[in-house]
Amino acid sequence: MNIFKVLLSIIFILISPTASSGIVKMKISKKLYILSGKEYGTNIGLIAVENGLILIDPMPGDNHLSELDQVIQSIYNKPVIFILNTHSHSDHTGGNKYFEGKGGKLLKGDIPLEGFTHIRVESHSSIDNIFYHKESNAIFVGDIFDTSWHPTFYAGGIKGFSNAIDTILNMGDDQSLIIPGHGVTANKSSLIEFRENTFAWINRVRELYHKESDLEKIMADTQLKNILQKFNASDKATFIPEKAYKRFIERTISVIDNEESLQQAH
Ligand SMILES: [Zn+2]
Repeated sequence: MNIFKVLLSIIFILISPTASSGIVKMKISKKLYILSGKEYGTNIGLIAVENGLILIDPMPGDNHLSELDQVIQSIYNKPVIFILNTHSHSDHTGGNKYFEGKGGKLLKGDIPLEGFTHIRVESHSSIDNIFYHKESNAIFVGDIFDTSWHPTFYAGGIKGFSNAIDTILNMGDDQSLIIPGHGVTANKSSLIEFRENTFAWINRVRELYHKESDLEKIMADTQLKNILQKFNASDKATFIPEKAYKRFIERTISVIDNEESLQQAH
């Protein structure tokens, strides 16, 4: 176990999740819960404000949404008044309609909510919203950061990823809780480690790609496999399927190709 994993497990134990009919509830503070959704494991933020609730990234799944609603009501018994999304992918927006139907207002563009800082970056998708809730010192970062999967920086490339991580590190303070799109909650030191591992991954893929075009051979590289395991924050026996490993290399190569063709253009 490295420090990253130890920290994650300590945070996990401290928050002590309780499962309620498949939806996991984590109480962060009196005013903030993280609910984690069924099939997708999306981290859903639930923040209590004066006249209701703010819901971040409601998961999809028609048959799960009434259950999610029940869990929310069992915690606060207040209406969802605003819905926010860290980005537009369906595992983060699939429940929007359901909660809009119950009177929630979906906020898009610049989010003018009191007590929140909102910054837009481009890393995992062309618009990634980072939300910082000051009172609970929690930063919702969506899929810029993932503690259950490998990094996915395909929209913003290396530059966009780097800028997104710097942006997060500049928000809040050293104690800020970081809520990734999926996986256990984390802190800034684990985010810094995630950035280092991501750069190590990109650099190793670049090195291999420049001397080797056979994807099978790149996949067999021990050093690359070891770097991949650093993203396996929960020490799963099988971290990701072989197909996903291959795809991750292919997509990293396309990011490298893009970066290099941009450099040549200058
Ligand atoms: Zn996601």
